[in-house]
Amino acid sequence: MDFLPLKNWFLAEKRDLPWRRDPVTPYRVWISEVMLQQTQASVVVDYFERWMQKFPTVEALAEASLEEVVKAWEGLGYYARARCVHAASKKIVAEFGGSIPSHPESLRSLKGLGPYTVGAIRSFAFKERAAAVDGNVVRVLARLLSLEKRSDQRPFFQQVMQELLPEEEAWIYMEAFIELGAQICTKNPQCGICPLQNQCLGYKEGKALLLPLKKPSPPTTYLQRRVAIIVHEKRVLLKRVEVGKVMGGLYEFPYVEEGEEWNFPFSLQWSRDLTQVKHSFTRYLVTLYPAVYKIEKKEEVQGFEWRPFSELQDLPFSSGHRRILKGLMT
Ligand code: SF4
Repeated sequence: MDFLPLKNWFLAEKRDLPWRRDPVTPYRVWISEVMLQQTQASVVVDYFERWMQKFPTVEALAEASLEEVVKAWEGLGYYARARCVHAASKKIVAEFGGSIPSHPESLRSLKGLGPYTVGAIRSFAFKERAAAVDGNVVRVLARLLSLEKRSDQRPFFQQVMQELLPEEEAWIYMEAFIELGAQICTKNPQCGICPLQNQCLGYKEGKALLLPLKKPSPPTTYLQRRVAIIVHEKRVLLKRVEVGKVMGGLYEFPYVEEGEEWNFPFSLQWSRDLTQVKHSFTRYLVTLYPAVYKIEKKEEVQGFEWRPFSELQDLPFSSGHRRILKGLMT
């Protein structure tokens, strides 16, 4: 196959994104790629730039508290990524003298670095001939070569990509494949303006829209939760979700599933309802029904913290509860 038209298209049309600008360092590639794993580039841009101001080096990241790191990640979702990045930065400082290693085994030993991120760091930052296969690349390969494979068969696509990469300037071609999947060979491909159209088997066979084959998705679970904003003398009761659980490290107001009872050592006096909030994570679609309550006497509640109102804006909240907080403050 001749990928020169792809390279030329990429060099002329690639999006101007901050992590592509000089200097393209392993640290900047790493952070941007982790942020991009579940989030669109247009959303990541602001987060990335704020992050680089706050934590300009691996050392600065390693020295920050987990709370600061999670706070900087707030809104990006999938918070395990932030915790992994923080843990990995400490290891890089402790075991690699603060420099991100280039050897694949060493990269794989860092928390949260899967085959894609390892490939991306080796390719974009260290300019090696390394495949970095994300969902975009899977889509392009499946269509270009008319491969009737499921999108979750990553090791297969990883091998195909590795074999296809040219010897010279492999990193440019690798990024070009990713960009083609993000810009042209999208869910609804724009084959009419694709630089690979005359070589694309999926296009020739009229199968582009059918490839890659879909993996079966798990059914959505619907949850209804009552949320209590319990206020006493300018303090609010909050829970910090245990690290290791979904939303670990983030703050939330107390909640119960619909039909469950509150279990507090004081009785709640309803004050007012707030607007309901819908949010989704992984396979859950949750409706939150928040209400403000007062209590007569404050008592400690195991697993919860009484935090002053003045601190709330600076704490990292899960996205649904952040929206409740916004409704509370307006
Ligand atoms: Fe994708 Fe169409 Fe280009 Fe083939 S021709 S790689 S299906 S955009």
